[in-house]
Amino acid sequence: MARSARSSHLLSVLLLAAVPTQVLAQSATPPDSAAERLVGAMLGDTPLVADLEALTDRFGGRPTGSAANQRAFEWAVERFREAGVRVRKEPFRMPGLWLERSAWVTILGEGVRFTPRVAALPFSTATPRQGLTAPLVDAGRGSEADFARLGAAVRGAVVLVETEELRDLDGLFREYNEAGGIEHRALEAGAAGLVYQSSRPHDILARHNASLGWKNRHPMMMMERDGAARALRLLRAGTPLTLTAVLDIRSGPAYETFNVVGEIRGATHPEEIVLIGAHLDSWDLGTGALDNGANAMMVLDIARQIRRLGIIPARTIRFALWNGEEQNLNGSHGYTLAHRAELDRHVMASSYDIGTGRITGFFTGGRGEVIPVLDRALAPVAGLGPFSHVNVPIVGTDNYDFMMQGVANLVANQESANYGPNYHARSDEFGRADLRQLRLNAAIAAAVTWGFATLDLSLPRQTAAQVDSLVQSTDLADQMRAFNVYESWLAGERGLRR
Ligand SMILES: [Zn+2]
Repeated sequence: MARSARSSHLLSVLLLAAVPTQVLAQSATPPDSAAERLVGAMLGDTPLVADLEALTDRFGGRPTGSAANQRAFEWAVERFREAGVRVRKEPFRMPGLWLERSAWVTILGEGVRFTPRVAALPFSTATPRQGLTAPLVDAGRGSEADFARLGAAVRGAVVLVETEELRDLDGLFREYNEAGGIEHRALEAGAAGLVYQSSRPHDILARHNASLGWKNRHPMMMMERDGAARALRLLRAGTPLTLTAVLDIRSGPAYETFNVVGEIRGATHPEEIVLIGAHLDSWDLGTGALDNGANAMMVLDIARQIRRLGIIPARTIRFALWNGEEQNLNGSHGYTLAHRAELDRHVMASSYDIGTGRITGFFTGGRGEVIPVLDRALAPVAGLGPFSHVNVPIVGTDNYDFMMQGVANLVANQESANYGPNYHARSDEFGRADLRQLRLNAAIAAAVTWGFATLDLSLPRQTAAQVDSLVQSTDLADQMRAFNVYESWLAGERGLRR
């Protein structure tokens, strides 16, 4: 997932609201032979795994704006073409360019000098070329009490914030929820910069977005867990330390890039659109296998197998490989702007973005009327269940702008498996992907896509008032704030507004 955090509140909703839907699934429509053939094809020997290996090993990490990103997206266009799927490059605007060239620190104290590895937080500013040199202070967990204890010592200093080791999605939610407060307190107190201890073991680094996103104006970084622990021990033993950081960042103004959108036209309702999407961009410390190469290659493979079998859906299916997702869900937002005139005819937009853990059901966006259709669509893969759905709106991946435009949307809910510890990390590599489960998930996603493209259904677009009521009646606003998308909705820049 993008920044796939969801609030811990949402997690508790998830646990409380998960409703088994097997009863509904058993009253499904008679099996559709095309759906069963498609599921069979997805479970067979397709290029899915070879594509994921090529994507991750050949192109590597694919941050939007990088040469690797451009090459990977051009390659994906070719892969759709080779599969006989009509494909377009669809331009959209990125709000700015942010890429790390290099990040380096030295820590100095009485008789002490060491150089732990660091990574800039996305949206960190660069330091001056000669570096930023400042006292390094122990900010504990970054709580109110920690900053009260430090008082004036924070002004002009770089604060080092200790973290818990991240073991699962729960830990990831906690990181997201705490970051905003920590950074706000540090900057209020006049810190010159902020360093998080990496929440991943040993010397594994990850790119955790600065909570202010594009509005951040300070150098911020993550330091390898072991090196940060050493610095904290020294500080706690009374050794004053100075940190010199050199962050070399490639930044720039708004620019244009593109999503890749494949299309298979429907036979009887070609004007009605069913969209399945996954972001192909990634962060760059690892090679973006779990987040989100695996699911992007799954979307491509579903298109390929439908073409190979020669089966024709009733509605038009679009296969979107989103770009710019990691930097504020930009590609899918751009799509909703470019396709504004036909959003009324989008009957479903689905997203896959939680690695390769088993799909356990779907987040159905607070729209209960989606669930009966979903259960009928899942009938051909009932053996891969059980599935239970969580009928809440969710922020953090490319369903967001569709949801806020009133389009019915799904996000696959997956067992977190190894997604959390590898999230945006150096360790997000091909070898971490569960290839067997990825193939099973591909069969599930294919069945769902095919179902929405062929079954009788009525999922009209919501009005602005209905979207507004979704915001008012759920924790959506809190989630939007955590992802820096609340203000743009309030301002009418994103989504429908009354
Ligand atoms: Zn993602």
